[in-house]
Amino acid sequence: MSIAIIDPGKDVSDWVAALHAHDSALKVEVWPEIAEPEKVEFALCWNHPEGVLPQFPNLKCISSLGAGINHLLNDPSRPPQVPLVRLVDNALKQSMAEYVMAGVLEHFRRFKDYRQLQSRTQWKELPIPDISTLGVGIMGCGEIGRYVAQKLFNFGFSVCGWSRTRKGREKFPVYVGNGELETFLSRTDFLVCLLPLTPETENILNRMRFDQLPAGAYLINVGRGSHLVEADLLSALDCGQLSGALLDVFRQEPLPEQHPFWGHSKIAMTPHIASVTNPDSAAEQIVANYHRALSGEPLLNLVDVECGY
Ligand code: NDP
Repeated sequence: MSIAIIDPGKDVSDWVAALHAHDSALKVEVWPEIAEPEKVEFALCWNHPEGVLPQFPNLKCISSLGAGINHLLNDPSRPPQVPLVRLVDNALKQSMAEYVMAGVLEHFRRFKDYRQLQSRTQWKELPIPDISTLGVGIMGCGEIGRYVAQKLFNFGFSVCGWSRTRKGREKFPVYVGNGELETFLSRTDFLVCLLPLTPETENILNRMRFDQLPAGAYLINVGRGSHLVEADLLSALDCGQLSGALLDVFRQEPLPEQHPFWGHSKIAMTPHIASVTNPDSAAEQIVANYHRALSGEPLLNLVDVECGY
C-alpha cells in the first residue's frame, strides 16, 4: 500500500516530510520512481502527464495537490470509477484573502497614482470614495470565495457574492445563477473571479459582462486564465470601461514573453502565486483521506465530477 506523488519537475520533499509528520508509517513514493505500481492506492497529482494514472490498477482515490482540479478532469485517461478529492485548506483561504485584499486596497487607495506623483516630485492629495460605498463582487462564493468575501465585508467594503446555487448563509447578499448575474455586476466596482473553470464559467470575463459593471471598475482574476477573454479585457481597458486589472492566472502559463499584458500600463500581474498550497497545513486532510479511502469511509472534499468542481 502506498501513496504516489505525481508532480513532474517539482521537488516534493516537503510534501513527503509533511505526510510523514502525520503518519510516519506511510509509504510515500514520488513518480516516476514507483517500485510497485500495483501497490499504489492513493495518487496525489498536480499537472500530471496524461496516461500516467492507468499505470496504477488499484487506485482507491485521486487527490489534487491544490484546490483546482482541471488538470484531473481534463485527463481522458483518468480512471472514471476512482473518486476525486481536492484540497480545502485554511492557509490557502487566508493567503487568497491577503492577495485580494492587497489588490483591492492598492487600487482603492491609489498607490499607483501616488507613485507617479512621487516620480514627478508632486505633493498632491487625490480623492477617494468612502469604503462603504465601494462594491466588491466575488464571483464564486465557495470555500475560498466565501472566506475572502467575509474578510472584505468585515473590513468595511460593500460585498456581494455570486454562486450557482442559493444557500442563504452569508451576512452579505449572494446572487445566484445567470438570471442574477447582471444585478450582481451592476453593483460591483471590484470584480474578483474565484470561480472554478467549467464549461459554464469558461470565457465568463468577457466584454458583455465588463459593460454591465459600473464604468471604471477593476478586475482581479485569481480563478483560471480561461475565465478571461483576453482581447475583451484589452478593449475594456483601452476605452476606460475598466480602470485596471490584477491578473494571477493566464491561459498560457508561464505567460509568453511577447504577450501584450506584460507591457500594459493598466495591468498588474503575478505568476499564479495568489495562494500556494502549504504542505504542512494541507497534509493532515490528505492523510485522513488516504485512511478513509482504504477503510471505505466517506472522503473529505469530494469533487462532483458532473458539476466539474
Ligand atoms: P469551490 O468549489 O469551493 O467554490 C466554487 C464556487 O463557484 C461555488 O460558490 C460555486 O457555486 C461557484 N460556481 C461554480 N460554477 C458556477 C457557475 N456556473 N455559476 C455561478 N457560480 C458557480 O472552490 P474553491 O473556492 O475552493 O476554489 C475556487 C477556485 O479558485 C478554484 O477552482 C481555482 O480555480 C481557484 N484557485 C486559484 C488559486 C490561485 O493561486 N490563483 C489558488 C486556489 C484556488 P455553489 O456554491 O452554488 O456550488
